[in-house]
Amino acid sequence: MPTLRFAPSPNGLLHLGHAFSALVTAAWARRLQGRLLLRIEDIDPQRSRRDFIEAIMRDLAWLGLEWEEPVRHQSEHMDDYRAALARLDALGVLYPCFASRAEIRAAAGAARDPDGAPLYPGLHRHLPPAEIAARKARGEPFALRLDMQAALGLARERAGGRITFTELSADGEARRIEACPERWGDVVIARKDVPTSYHLAVVVDDALQGVTHVTRGRDLLAATDIHRLLQILLELPEPVYHHHRLVLGPDGAKLSKSRGDRALAALRAAGASPADIRRRLGLD
Ligand code: GLU
Repeated sequence: MPTLRFAPSPNGLLHLGHAFSALVTAAWARRLQGRLLLRIEDIDPQRSRRDFIEAIMRDLAWLGLEWEEPVRHQSEHMDDYRAALARLDALGVLYPCFASRAEIRAAAGAARDPDGAPLYPGLHRHLPPAEIAARKARGEPFALRLDMQAALGLARERAGGRITFTELSADGEARRIEACPERWGDVVIARKDVPTSYHLAVVVDDALQGVTHVTRGRDLLAATDIHRLLQILLELPEPVYHHHRLVLGPDGAKLSKSRGDRALAALRAAGASPADIRRRLGLD
């Protein structure tokens, strides 16, 4: 059964960009006669808030979305992510990294990953085992990073050479894209504060929830490189992808909570109807 999901992070109120993503996902679910799931991506204990979860559900219901229960809250499933970490560790593709953000920034120089963050230059890739043991014994916090070259070698061997994914256009035309995970360097798979990262949680959950079609914004297209790599390493099924256009503000920049773009709740309070929102998003 085609299965789709909308997966917001509850660290703010939904804005028009989220409404677009949710409505596009619901339209695909209808078109494919599939199921629509809701997943709350609340792995970040600092930024996730219960009142935002409630507000998200209110906004989505107001827009007319209906999703199947139960809603999956990532914060309740850390054991699933720990199990996936253990599998990756058994493959020998993870290593602990104790480096601070400042150290990484300084060592990266001008090199950037596709998100524009400093590209991790492999600082702790080959720490001597005795140093790792000593730092752990001192209680130094560490992230787990993917040894990208080792991971790629294994994944390419399993995938018969190339790592690819299927991208559907808005009108359903399929095209095969070659993933290029190396441009991310040794990505963080488990953060210092939680035993997962966005990348690990998303691939584990998409598989556990039986998601067949991943619909999300183009800002996450490059992340699909990592997701396909992890799916191959963890032997998870491969969904197809649709990365939709982004809703831009009047200045041409992507909408964001931090820029203070207007929340759906504020538009609703100012008298907008769900039909007004759809029209504004060019959906009717
Ligand atoms: N939680 C992510 C976000 O709000 C979306 C994750 C995804 O769709 O893969 O940007």
